[in-house]
Amino acid sequence: MQLDVAIIGGGPAGCAAALALVSRGHSVIVIATPYDRVKPTETAVPALARLLRSLGAAHALRACEPCSGIATSRGRTTPVLQPAISNPYGHAWFIHRTRFDACLQQTARDRGAQWLAEGARSLAEDSGWSFNLNNRQAGFRSLGGHRHRLTSISRSSDQSESSAI
Ligand SMILES: Cc1cc2nc3c(=O)[nH]c(=O)nc-3n(C[C@H](O)[C@H](O)[C@H](O)COP(=O)(O)OP(=O)(O)OC[C@H]3O[C@@H](n4cnc5c(N)ncnc54)[C@H](O)[C@@H]3O)c2cc1C
Repeated sequence: MQLDVAIIGGGPAGCAAALALVSRGHSVIVIATPYDRVKPTETAVPALARLLRSLGAAHALRACEPCSGIATSRGRTTPVLQPAISNPYGHAWFIHRTRFDACLQQTARDRGAQWLAEGARSLAEDSGWSFNLNNRQAGFRSLGGHRHRLTSISRSSDQSESSAI
């Protein structure tokens, strides 16, 4: 198997990266451990809608609900209310993460991203990168500079080493 990019992690960031790369003509594999727990509902800033539209994934907003504003204490000693009424991008969002993630993952697959439901542990090497999967090994060949090409994903003969992931 020869691919341009391997993305480790299939959450919103991994899916967004996959969608952006596939839309630019790159071949992509997402390597992501299956997540079988229900994720909590989260909040997102109004710009979420714009970001999803730019990825061609506005339909993921069906897993979201409008929210009038966000009160946050992140990085502060007292909570601060961020009302959405003055935001040029409109209202904020509640995100039902389990449905949201599932929608983005399906969209990435539908657009052509390959999906491997396994854990990965990367190892830097002089000639490029390689990483171990649960029962396979993947290798990258350097194309010069910071560019690397995934050259193979094959079943590892040494199961004991890779099972430590
Ligand atoms: C309790 C809680 C509440 C939160 N509330 C909010 C909120 O209200 N608003 C907000 O904006 N943010 C919130 N966050 C933060 C938000 O969840 C994260 O910023 C967001 O999930 C990051 O997305 P991500 O795709 O980078 O990572 P994740 O969603 O964590 O996805 C990464 C995925 O990669 C997989 N993975 C990791 N390592 C490997 C590996 N080696 N091999 C294969 N797969 C791997 C993981 O299993 C996971 O499924 C909250 C977080 C928590 C824990």
